[in-house]
Amino acid sequence: MSNNNSQIINLIENGNRYANSLTEYSRRKTITVNIGDVPMGSDFPIRVQSMTTIDTMDTIGSVEQTIRMVESGCEYVRITAPSVKEAQNLDNIRKELRVRGYSVPLVADIHFTPNAAELAARLVEKVRINPGNYADKKRFETIDYTESSYQAELERIRDKFLPLVNICKEYGTAMRIGTNHGSLSDRILSRYGDTPLGMVESALEFLRICEDENYHNIVLSMKASNTQVMVEAYRLLCRKLNEEGLKPYPLHLGVTEAGEGEDGRIKSAVGIGTLLEDGLGDTVRVSLTEDPELEAPVAKALIDRYSNRKEKSKFIADYSSQLKFDSPINPFQYFRRTTHEVANFGGHNVPRVIADYSQIEVSEHDDLKTIGHYYLPLPDKWTMNDLGADYIYTAQNPAKFMLPMGLKEILDFSVWQEQADKINKFPLFTLETFINSSVKHESLNFLQLTLAELDEKLFSLLKSETKTVLCIYTDNAHAMPELRRFFFELIGNQITIPVVILRQYKNLPESDFQLFSATDCGGLLIDGFGDGILLKMPELSTKLELLTLSKSYNSTAFGILQAARTRMSKTEYISCPSCGRTLFDLQETTAMIRKKTEHLKGVKIGIMGCIVNGPGEMADADYGYVGVGKDKIALYRGQTVVKKSVHSDNAVNELIEIIKEDGVWFEANNE
Ligand code: SF4
Repeated sequence: MSNNNSQIINLIENGNRYANSLTEYSRRKTITVNIGDVPMGSDFPIRVQSMTTIDTMDTIGSVEQTIRMVESGCEYVRITAPSVKEAQNLDNIRKELRVRGYSVPLVADIHFTPNAAELAARLVEKVRINPGNYADKKRFETIDYTESSYQAELERIRDKFLPLVNICKEYGTAMRIGTNHGSLSDRILSRYGDTPLGMVESALEFLRICEDENYHNIVLSMKASNTQVMVEAYRLLCRKLNEEGLKPYPLHLGVTEAGEGEDGRIKSAVGIGTLLEDGLGDTVRVSLTEDPELEAPVAKALIDRYSNRKEKSKFIADYSSQLKFDSPINPFQYFRRTTHEVANFGGHNVPRVIADYSQIEVSEHDDLKTIGHYYLPLPDKWTMNDLGADYIYTAQNPAKFMLPMGLKEILDFSVWQEQADKINKFPLFTLETFINSSVKHESLNFLQLTLAELDEKLFSLLKSETKTVLCIYTDNAHAMPELRRFFFELIGNQITIPVVILRQYKNLPESDFQLFSATDCGGLLIDGFGDGILLKMPELSTKLELLTLSKSYNSTAFGILQAARTRMSKTEYISCPSCGRTLFDLQETTAMIRKKTEHLKGVKIGIMGCIVNGPGEMADADYGYVGVGKDKIALYRGQTVVKKSVHSDNAVNELIEIIKEDGVWFEANNE
């Protein structure tokens, strides 16, 4: 058994607790970390932060961008210091900010350069180091360590790291030990693999040195662009800190290379929101390939949702079938809940998207355009795009024409039973109608349930159901944990029925809807729960308003499934947010690459601003576009460079050529 697996199994055998509670909202207790005059952790509010994108040597540009970020809600501002020269200039930036009346704590971002870190630690309030590259150069080698050669490596790290620890102690400077999934050292990769446990150990190697030196002004992070890996790593970190008797350090939450626009926001919410739901996290950075001042409002919307969560929530009883376990699943490793197949739900099917048309009268073909189904009059046929919904829920208003093959209709039971065609439409039951009705669909029925409705009698009924899919919902403000608790009961009672997650929000701005639904559904999907999503729309007065909103709801549902890595329906862009190291216009380049490749469903393209941090950080991508010098781009297939230095004018075309060589390319269908 690998070292990695045996360590995870040990953790599970000792109980799988990583949060105060999986049912009641309770923020994890941490020590306080002092960062200038804005402390973090313990009872202090969850802080918002971001990073500048401008060249650090541009003092006034950095100052003005920092001010814009502060005005947009940033409480800490991180600035890259790739070498001693930039580290020194942090002093000028800081002084100018103070002259202009801004006392925001500054954080120096360090990769590879201990000398820059040691200088910055004397000048600014906090230093971020990456344990994957502080003491190691990346050679992509697998090394066979003995116990003693591994110990010798730890001694080498200690010698390199100790001067920084001593300076931080002397100057009262805080530190973030910030692991990135994509930039783990060869040593960690050789021993633990590319895993959440490797990420945690990467930070702990450095943290143990700090604890030995009695230095505790530390924040930890476990970032990845893969939301499953990121959530598992943070959970494992909490568990390991506790198990080793290390202090409960505050957590900095973030999803790296989340991308831009809707995709970037949804992906960030899936990763960050899932952890916030369980009370983990003391500061949030949302990384978008956009101007940095656009990040803070997203982070703030995610955080503000918890400001009075406890007071607004209803009581949810703990899962209690086995005393030492909080839940019947392994929260540190992704496994999809085992379900039996009912029609195209559950089993090995991807989670399904059900579009809510309960308020929309489906009277014209074009009514289905917004959910990805298009009628072409000339050949008289239907076509669909990659975001074509699988089902529509029409409730009391049956569609007025025959739906395309790829789209099925769900009606309320009372209406369904009056339909002439009961085969191609499917009924949604309440518990009462389900129990009392002798008429059911011969292959697919939906049963809407809440946690409160579960009891022994229902468990035995559900155990024998082979033609029913559950649709679970709640109006509890602490929604994700309540719905998760529902899944725990199903697992505890060996019920393998597929489940659709139903969520509805009242009076929310569309931007919050996107973030909150991504948090609630994403949190469940990350735990392996959910065989479909139904996002119900708020009440609106006109059909046009409803149709417009249905497009965004449908796209959000597909976005959530993709961000949680459970159903790929679009090209995925793993693009860095850019920083002072960036060697080209990331926003413009990302838009250009997106325009040419967005039809390549399921392909993952990494777009990184620099070579220093790029190749490792895009560990998850199929292809990569990485800045290596002014107007010079390196192109990657996986983690292998295939073109070392292509002029930026031609780099996108060359990237497409590589995709073509692999037989992955096809021309876009612009119908
Ligand atoms: S990959 Fe992007 S964000 Fe990361 S260091 Fe390079 S330019 Fe900065």
